[in-house]
Amino acid sequence: MKIIKTVSQMRKLSLKWIRQGKSVGLISTMGALHKGHRSLIKQSREENDISVLSIFVNPVQFGQGEDYKKYPRCLQKDKRLAEKEGVEIIFAPSVEEMYPQGYLTFVNVENLSSVLCGNSRAGHFKGVCTVVNKLFNIIKPTRAYFGQKDYQQLKIIERMTKDLNLNVAVIMMPIVREENGLAISSRNSYLSGEERRQAPVLFNALKKAEEMIRVKKETDSAYIINQMEHKVRSQSKAKIDYIKICEPESLKEIEKISGEVLVLLAVWIGKTRLIDNFLIKGDE
Ligand code: AMP
Repeated sequence: MKIIKTVSQMRKLSLKWIRQGKSVGLISTMGALHKGHRSLIKQSREENDISVLSIFVNPVQFGQGEDYKKYPRCLQKDKRLAEKEGVEIIFAPSVEEMYPQGYLTFVNVENLSSVLCGNSRAGHFKGVCTVVNKLFNIIKPTRAYFGQKDYQQLKIIERMTKDLNLNVAVIMMPIVREENGLAISSRNSYLSGEERRQAPVLFNALKKAEEMIRVKKETDSAYIINQMEHKVRSQSKAKIDYIKICEPESLKEIEKISGEVLVLLAVWIGKTRLIDNFLIKGDE
């Protein structure tokens, strides 16, 4: 396994792979690798000749007062995990390498970026789209793997890829969870013991919605959301950012459930903001 730190070295390699007709899978991450990342790597390894894992804590996607500085960074540990998983290349550029002095260009996907998490985190998706676009240009992957955990991010990247004619297949991978249902996240390391005990409430609220939609055939979104709020509020450390039921492609809110819906929520557990979602099929 090789670690590449500069854009020019990475570009040289990707051009070589194109000439050799090799397929390339990209797993873009901010590091602090866990089982969720591992499932993306495994899938990429199955489907491509070469897998590139990017590790870059992208300052542009963090807002003022967010956790950019304290975000976990553990490159040595990540290297060991990536090597064990058979990753060929880690691309780990510095901030200066990605955003050299004089940098001025940003990519914004309108509408989809301003709702849900975009409403609470202004500029977040502009930062994500900018860095993902740069990674696509530098690495030229055949396929790029993203987790359903960040569902809105995935839909925005799909839109960007289509709108900007980027020749990359965007692939969604299922959410990997702890046994208690908590979606695995690098940010879970911020949680105290008590917070960790309470954090599965996101999953439990989603289970409640699933039961209401699938078993009880409930179709009133407002009522389902109300029941979910009730569940989340039963935990003393939890503070709701949002709970929404949306159409899975447009991310528009839905009042009456029919067909497949996306139920998603963002909840503060103490000082840590966690997100989770289910795709749930109601009656047509
Ligand atoms: P991050 O390092 O948090 O930016 O995540 C990098 C990629 O891993 C993104 O596509 C995430 O959606 C995905 N990911 C993070 N956590 C999980 C998880 N628990 N299950 C599946 N994919 C995940």
